Amino acid sequence: MEGVITLQNGMPTAVPDNPIILFIKGDGVGPDIWHAAVQVMDAAVERAYAGKRRIAWREAWAGEEAIRRYADPLPPKTLEAIRQYRVAIKGPLTTPIAGGFRSLNVALRRYFDLYACIRPIRYIQGTPSPLKHPEKCDFVIFRENTEDVYAGIEWPGESAQGRQVARFLREEMGVEIAADAGIGIKPISSPATKRLVRKAIAYALEKKRRSVTLVHKGNIMKYTEGAFRDWGYEVAAEEFSGQVVREDALGQGEGVIDNRVVIKDRLADAMFQQVLLRPEEYDVLVMPNLNGDYLSDACAAQVGGLGMAPGANCGDEIAIFEATHGSALKYANQDKINPGSMILSGAMMLEYIGWHEAAHMIEEGMQQTIMAKTVTYDLHRQMRGATLVSCSQFGEAVVENMGQGR
Ligand code: NAD
Repeated sequence: MEGVITLQNGMPTAVPDNPIILFIKGDGVGPDIWHAAVQVMDAAVERAYAGKRRIAWREAWAGEEAIRRYADPLPPKTLEAIRQYRVAIKGPLTTPIAGGFRSLNVALRRYFDLYACIRPIRYIQGTPSPLKHPEKCDFVIFRENTEDVYAGIEWPGESAQGRQVARFLREEMGVEIAADAGIGIKPISSPATKRLVRKAIAYALEKKRRSVTLVHKGNIMKYTEGAFRDWGYEVAAEEFSGQVVREDALGQGEGVIDNRVVIKDRLADAMFQQVLLRPEEYDVLVMPNLNGDYLSDACAAQVGGLGMAPGANCGDEIAIFEATHGSALKYANQDKINPGSMILSGAMMLEYIGWHEAAHMIEEGMQQTIMAKTVTYDLHRQMRGATLVSCSQFGEAVVENMGQGR
């Protein structure tokens, strides 16, 4: 029977055998990667559960197709459907050049308060990488999605409002600021920080991860990024005592007691070095919005690039899984692009709803396909002796290769 997935505190509590899951194909290369990914997800579920389970897909529209159908890039019908079905997977959406939206993705995140952007960074053996030992990378990034300089509170230097804010800062706050400076505000609050860190620690405990690292620039931005670090430690101590231990409370060379999750913090600039030089020391990484934007793309590059990077935006009531790259318009409708990001986002979604066997099938199919050097153009140009396939052929190869690794 078809049914709706129910969530509590952002986690599924009941998943019917035929859960209704919403999909948005997205713009540009979106339809290509969607068609490749949906056949992989359906085949994995079919093989893992021998027909007992099946996803009941429902389509919703956003972006260019929604403008064609409803003259609105984010129609109320789509928002209602997401609210009703709670779990969705989407392709990339082109940011409209004109109109009321900074970005449709940001609008979706805001509307549903999808405060955690979750990006697993895991190496699939055989994928070309700039690292000598990319297999040491196994991080999960939790990026705050609603605050920081991304809150959209900014004014151009030459605007009346910009000048008014500059005057207030000069005259009321005694701050020196150039008359024509553009001004942006960086809000970081305790509730927004704590709910993100809470989610990250709960994830680390559930998945038996070893550590959670707070990544911040608190030495310079003390009351925003420094506060993020302090609130992060606070939530760990107040809500997870007995299950976590602070790194600075461990003696030198002292091991972790009772498999507790180690909570540590690193400065963001140092973190960029650490993920390259000592990746094996890191596990779950949690950070404010801007740090997360930069670090998640840099880490994705370490394991094969954006074409291989899955992601999700999650709140307490809704989870939207998505290919992390953009709509790559120049490759639209060419059946060319790497659907790996969308396929792995599908695996992440199946894992999230507790269909671990199907998720594992997909990971195995991806692994075998890459090992066989059957790849799309982006990986092909970096691999010797590889076979170049189209986006849809890559999807077919993943389906064929499921179950081959046993
Ligand atoms: P993009 O990610 O669309 O593409 C940049 C380049 O990266 C492409 O030209 C291509 O060379 C490569 N690339 C991207 N995905 C790939 C894949 N799956 N396989 C192989 N190569 C791949 O970035 P952009 O050009 O900056 O953005 C295009 C549009 O997408 C913009 O409107 C942007 O706002 C939007 N965007 C949307 C999302 C989202 O929906 N989550 C994310 C980023 C950008």
